[in-house]
Amino acid sequence: MKKYALVTGGSRGIGRSICLKLAQMNYFVLINYKSNIGEAQRTLEMIENNGGSGALMPFDVAKPDEINAALMQWQEQNADSYIEILVNNAGIRRDNLMFWLTDNEWEDVISTNLDGAFYITRNLVKFMLNKKFGRIINIVSISGINGMAGQTNYSAAKAGLIGLTKALALETAKKRVTVNAVAPGFIHTDMTGDLPVDELKKLVPAQRFGQPEEVAELVGFLASDKADYITGQVISVSGGL
Ligand code: NDP
Repeated sequence: MKKYALVTGGSRGIGRSICLKLAQMNYFVLINYKSNIGEAQRTLEMIENNGGSGALMPFDVAKPDEINAALMQWQEQNADSYIEILVNNAGIRRDNLMFWLTDNEWEDVISTNLDGAFYITRNLVKFMLNKKFGRIINIVSISGINGMAGQTNYSAAKAGLIGLTKALALETAKKRVTVNAVAPGFIHTDMTGDLPVDELKKLVPAQRFGQPEEVAELVGFLASDKADYITGQVISVSGGL
C-alpha cells in the first residue's frame, strides 16, 4: 500500500530537501508549489532519479478555495488512501519596519505562513485521526521564537504557527497523530539569497549558515515511527542561534 506525504512549497529550498528525504523513506511525495513549475518538476526528477516517486500538486496556500479544491480532487481520486504526513513548509518574507509595513506586506505574510497551514491541516487532520496515525510538521523560524526587527509580520505568523502546533498536539495525541514545529535559523536558500551572509554568520555560534538537508534530516526523524512519543515541540536547527 502506497503511503502519501504532502510538502507545501516543495519546489525549492528547504521544501525540496524535505521532499527528497520523505521519498527516501518510501513515501509517495505530493510536491506543492505556487507558480514555479520548472523547479517543482526538478524536485520530482531528483526524487525519481533516486528511485522514489511523487507527483506535483500546485495550489496557492494563501487561497483556501484552491487548497480545498486540490485536496478534494486528490481524495476523490485516491478514495482508499490518505495523506499521513503533512509538512507545512511554504513561506515568504516581506520585511519592513512596523511603521512602514503596508497592509499587503502584513496580509501576504500572514495568509501564506499561517492561514495556509490552518486550512490545509484542518482538511487533512480528520483523515489522520480516523486512521489513528499521522504526522504534522510545521516549519517555523527562530524569528517566531525570539522576534526579529523588520519582521513583525513574519514573526507574528511564525509565532502563531507555534501556538497552533502546541494546541493541536493536545487535541490529537491520543490518536497517534503528532504535531511538531521545526525552527530553522539561517539556511542557504533563495529566501536568504539577499542577506549579507558574511556579516550574519558572525551572529551564529556555529559561524555558518545551515543547509536545507540539515533541516530535512530532523523533519525525516519527526515523520518516522521513532518519533512517536514526541509531540507539541518546537525544535531549532540553527547552529545555536
Ligand atoms: P524558498 O523561498 O527557497 O522557497 C519557498 C517555497 O515556498 C517555494 O517552493 C515556493 O513555491 C513556496 N511558496 C511560497 N508561497 C507559496 C504559496 N502562496 N503557495 C504555495 N507555495 C508557496 O524558502 P525556504 O526554503 O528558505 O523556506 C522554507 C520555509 O522555511 C519557509 O516557511 C520559511 O519561512 C522557513 N524558514 C526559512 C529560513 C531560511 O533561512 N531559509 C529560516 C527560517 C525559516 P514557488 O517555487 O512556486 O514560488
